[in-house]
Amino acid sequence: MHTFFSEERRGDYLFLRDKELKHLKVRRIEQKEKFKVIYEDRTFLCELERLHKDKAQCRILEELPQESFQVNITLYQAVPENLKTFEEIIRGSVQVGVKRIVPVISDRSFKKREVLERKLQRWEKIAKEEMKLSGRSLPFRIEKVESLRVLKAEAQVNLLLDNFNGKGSIRDLNFKAQSYSVVVGPEGGFTAKEVSSLRERGFEPVLLRPYVMRTQTAALLMCGMIANLSAT
Ligand code: SAH
Repeated sequence: MHTFFSEERRGDYLFLRDKELKHLKVRRIEQKEKFKVIYEDRTFLCELERLHKDKAQCRILEELPQESFQVNITLYQAVPENLKTFEEIIRGSVQVGVKRIVPVISDRSFKKREVLERKLQRWEKIAKEEMKLSGRSLPFRIEKVESLRVLKAEAQVNLLLDNFNGKGSIRDLNFKAQSYSVVVGPEGGFTAKEVSSLRERGFEPVLLRPYVMRTQTAALLMCGMIANLSAT
């Protein structure tokens, strides 16, 4: 079933405008046809009541229950110099069930905070596109930019992807927790100092086998494993 995003509700109606309206037209949705509409993080089953030139009027039939997928994964992703790679990571994060992504500035990451702050709107748009494609209605958050040195190990399980010092086996990780955080380095990796500081703060180093991976591969593989192996 198709999914659209609305920012406007009046009584039992949700309205689609601009890009969402265009999308509805491209999909050739007809009167009385049913589809899902996400409004303020809630999902509604709707039918098309009327198509106007500048908006589609959708009648709410019922509110759908929140998805039950509740593993709470936060991805702390050092922003790659190539910002397209970060966009790829946003897309993948939506697909594999990450709950929130925090763009992180580290010694070897992309460093211009103002540039990143201006990207937020574009990133939100990309995340929405991806939610539609993957049939996800669980909200996805893009948080404000943080510095690596202020990250705290706040989840029940806090992991640091470390292709040098990680040891043990993925099998030994606790996949029974409710909340996870995953810290991933930029293309050039973390410095030794960054790694030791993160470990002191309680992040547990993890090595993925068998090879060194690109940052996007490592991030999505780890988050995807957590999503699939953890309790719910
Ligand atoms: N050029 C760097 C590679 C960095 S890869 C180097 O020589 O170390 C970018 C990031 O992806 C790393 O900082 C790490 O967080 C993650 N990563 C890549 N491969 C990994 C692996 N096999 N195990 C754990 N983390 C990995």
